Amino acid sequence: MKEVYIETYGCAANQNNSEIIGGLLRGAGYGLVGNSDIADIIVLNSCVVKGKTENKIKRRVQDLSKKYPKKILVIAGCMPETDAKELKKLAVDCLLLGTHNFKNIVNLLKNYENYLDKRNEVKVGLPKISSNKLIGITQISEGCLGNCSYCKTKLAKGDLFSFDIDDVVKSVESDLRNGAKEIWLTSQDCAVYGVDKYGESRLVELLRRVLLLKGRFKVRLGMMNPAGLFLILDEMISVFKDKKMYKFLHVPIQSGSDDVLKSMRRGYEIELVEKIVERFRKEFPDGVFATDVIVGYPSESVGDFRGSLGFVSEFKPDVFNLSKFSRHKGTEAWKLKELSGEVVSKRASELMECHRAGALDNKKKFVGKKVKVFVNKSLSGGLFEGRDENYNIVLVKGSGGEFGWKELLGKNLEVVIKSVGVHHMVGEVG
Ligand code: SF4
Repeated sequence: MKEVYIETYGCAANQNNSEIIGGLLRGAGYGLVGNSDIADIIVLNSCVVKGKTENKIKRRVQDLSKKYPKKILVIAGCMPETDAKELKKLAVDCLLLGTHNFKNIVNLLKNYENYLDKRNEVKVGLPKISSNKLIGITQISEGCLGNCSYCKTKLAKGDLFSFDIDDVVKSVESDLRNGAKEIWLTSQDCAVYGVDKYGESRLVELLRRVLLLKGRFKVRLGMMNPAGLFLILDEMISVFKDKKMYKFLHVPIQSGSDDVLKSMRRGYEIELVEKIVERFRKEFPDGVFATDVIVGYPSESVGDFRGSLGFVSEFKPDVFNLSKFSRHKGTEAWKLKELSGEVVSKRASELMECHRAGALDNKKKFVGKKVKVFVNKSLSGGLFEGRDENYNIVLVKGSGGEFGWKELLGKNLEVVIKSVGVHHMVGEVG
């Protein structure tokens, strides 16, 4: 039996793609191993969302190809879609599996050829090996309706392709049957789910059907772009009120300046996002708000930057995915002149500091409070990681002992918060 090692980069959707690769390979008689040394085949599932991650992956491809010249190296995911030639230069013998061809992983190994054709690939209802049995990841669509000037993901994933609503619900049902207690529904833009297929967003309908499924579980909803979310905001607020929904809102803003948003072709103004977050925070004062910002976009003036800083300082996102602008070939922004690295780094640290202060402030109100926590991960040293009803990370210590590592796993606990950090809280079962 040939052994396969899968290394994954990027978003929740790509984690799920790796789970699907594992499921298809296991079904075809391959074994799955946890490190590259003992594997016969290495699958690196790539991501192109950030320049920094891309460079890291390209170095890794080169290292793996040098270190293991006799092993089969497969590069999967978004990078084969956008950088096939360069990957072949870095690792001449590697095989390429595009992000629309995960179902062809077995054929690729059988025929020893690349699979890069663009097609709509349904990624639900496929065999998968979950990376965490307690968490079931289901993609609801692929691609998006956007055309953001800086975005390389668009070049890889293409236009919106929503999966059939019955198939998505069946995928969640199957995860629940297999023991998942936390359901992640994910895509590049969940708010526009179904617009390509049904002419309007069907996200609310999909969520309501998932929330009607039997069992005690929680749903984490993936990122939503402001423009699409605003159109369904009232209904989404009522969906978020369901106790099975984590009060977790992930809305990437990318910039707090309307001029920069226009240049990025984001399709909304910052006031619209402010209305969304104000509404969410009014309904769910303890709710977690997550956002993404690109700092140092070429046209970002000092005033534009102040716009982003002002937004972060006022709305205090709990989760903050900050990226320094990076130019990507094939995107509109490729031809723009970049700001100096020094200016961008200074702005990035100012933004991060502002975020950290706000996120810590948000958490201080939990100290001494009792919160409900679902434990979904076992860490080292008898420590467990759980999520409260707002999807805040809560660390809890078990009582230790031989089977201490699984003692609290999968449990719903009442925990008293003892201390807080910027991105987590520490509690005691109480
Ligand atoms: S919405 Fe914009 S940033 Fe998001 S994947 Fe689409 S093009 Fe890229």
